[in-house]
Amino acid sequence: MSIHCQLCQSEQLVHSKKIDAKSRGMLDISFCPDCSLVAQAQTPTDEELKIYYSHNYRQDYKNTYSPKSKYIYRAGQAALNRINFLEKHLNLKQKSLIDIGAGGGEFVYMAQQCGLRSSGIEPNLGYSNFSKEQYGVEVKTAMLSDVEDHSADILTLFHVFEHMANPHEVMKKLYRSLKENGYLYIEVPNILQADASPHNIYFKAHLFYYSKHTLISMASRYFEVADIEDQGNLQILFKKRSQVLESPILPTHDAVQMSQERMAKKGWFEYLFLAGGIMKPIFRIERMITEAFIGKKQPKEILDQLLRDSQTSYFLLPKRQLKRAGSWSVAGGFGLVCYELLC
Ligand SMILES: [Zn+2]
Repeated sequence: MSIHCQLCQSEQLVHSKKIDAKSRGMLDISFCPDCSLVAQAQTPTDEELKIYYSHNYRQDYKNTYSPKSKYIYRAGQAALNRINFLEKHLNLKQKSLIDIGAGGGEFVYMAQQCGLRSSGIEPNLGYSNFSKEQYGVEVKTAMLSDVEDHSADILTLFHVFEHMANPHEVMKKLYRSLKENGYLYIEVPNILQADASPHNIYFKAHLFYYSKHTLISMASRYFEVADIEDQGNLQILFKKRSQVLESPILPTHDAVQMSQERMAKKGWFEYLFLAGGIMKPIFRIERMITEAFIGKKQPKEILDQLLRDSQTSYFLLPKRQLKRAGSWSVAGGFGLVCYELLC
């Protein structure tokens, strides 16, 4: 059990029991009142994690080695949004990119189609083989420790960093793996987000639960922030520092206090009535209808169709903007009906 905070080394951790969203078993979660880092108190060794991710993880989570069509479609949509986020800051043409924890290889394939020299690493043999066979992309069955120094312009980790046991060491390795002026793009669940169902926050496989304050701080010795998107999942684009700092820049007192207050507010009332959780079943039905049309298409066909559709800028709008546009359309329609009735 960790007796000190992995970010600020404080030993004043506050422990609480939380329910694992998958097994419904109990997890021991710690909160650091000095820097606001949220973490699991029990952390496995690197060797245990390597065995778990190369053999068990994908089956535990999806009962299969090959992703279903709807997951490929969702991964393809997410890939387009992520490429769009990167394109706001960088000219992607001919840049080398390595996706760490590439899963089924959807992002590597989509990035390649958008002009990047992309490849990936994935510890699970079934998934890395799937990427090679279905999309013809280079996804090695490997761990981060196998990535060579100075080997990429851009590194990406989508829903991977929260699974890693020694974040300081991981940051050091990511820094070394990037070329000069390289970029690191990390996406993790956001512990401060209000619109996450309280049923679906804590997972045995998630060792850390980052906020923008704690993730920026964890990266701060090696990286500075280029852009942040923290509505929903937390996405941060980091730029490699020219020189490593002596120690991390810890979250400010105000940020820690704000995080503490946000954590205290989390719950069903906030999720359903303040964060719009009550509307989620409607979005889920909408998604089920869309996904019903995917049918039995081949994985590559699904991604190619998404790429063709993305030629019209509409499909590259972030999901939130689409939802907002949808809400305004509904509100506009309602307004017109009222006007017709009254006049
Ligand atoms: Zn701390």
